[in-house]
Amino acid sequence: SSFAHFGFDDSLMKIIRKSEYTQPTPIQAQAVPAALNGRDVLGIAKTGSGKTAAFIWPMLVHIMDQKELQVGDGPIGLILAPTRELSQQIYTEAKRFGKVYNINVVCCYGGGSKWEQSKSLENGAEIVVATPGRIIDLVKMKATNLTRVTFLVLDEADRMFDMGFEPQVRSICDHTRPDRQTLLFSATFKKRVEKLARDVLTDPIRIVQ
Ligand code: AMP
Repeated sequence: SSFAHFGFDDSLMKIIRKSEYTQPTPIQAQAVPAALNGRDVLGIAKTGSGKTAAFIWPMLVHIMDQKELQVGDGPIGLILAPTRELSQQIYTEAKRFGKVYNINVVCCYGGGSKWEQSKSLENGAEIVVATPGRIIDLVKMKATNLTRVTFLVLDEADRMFDMGFEPQVRSICDHTRPDRQTLLFSATFKKRVEKLARDVLTDPIRIVQ
């Protein structure tokens, strides 16, 4: 497989080339075309598989398609991750690729300053990367809202559950639009994740790394 199959525009291709990625990873080769077609994705994949770019790239394309259509100020793309470290890694990747379209990305995690995070949200962000508890707090504070979210990613779902975030993850899914596109990634696929996948994904394409 090659990047040419994805049909990305020149600006995205340029930064991918600059990253010295020579070809898509197996998870990217499968998840990207599915996500670009608007499908929900269930990916069983670990860190190191290239899963971050596999959801960032389709999210950027989605946002560029939707931006003019949607009025409001909340994020269009929302990525949930279990920890501060992972959310910051995803943030760095999203910012690096999002920059080519002037897409703003904000990272909100527990332990960081709520005041600073709400200030960043005030400036407007098309993409928010967040840990589940913190984004709920910020929504309650009315620092942001989830009414515009049409592209939702649940990353490392199994770890979010291990950390006790299941109620928060489910609540966030319930507060986004039912017509959203959802991508769920997990290193393992046990009963609870399987149940979540059934509840929040619509006719997903399943990818096992
Ligand atoms: P991830 O599994 O998303 O944490 O990615 C692991 C590492 O692989 C990160 O440093 C990425 O920048 C890198 N990466 C992602 N996609 C590719 C690719 N197609 N070719 C080479 N490296 C990649």
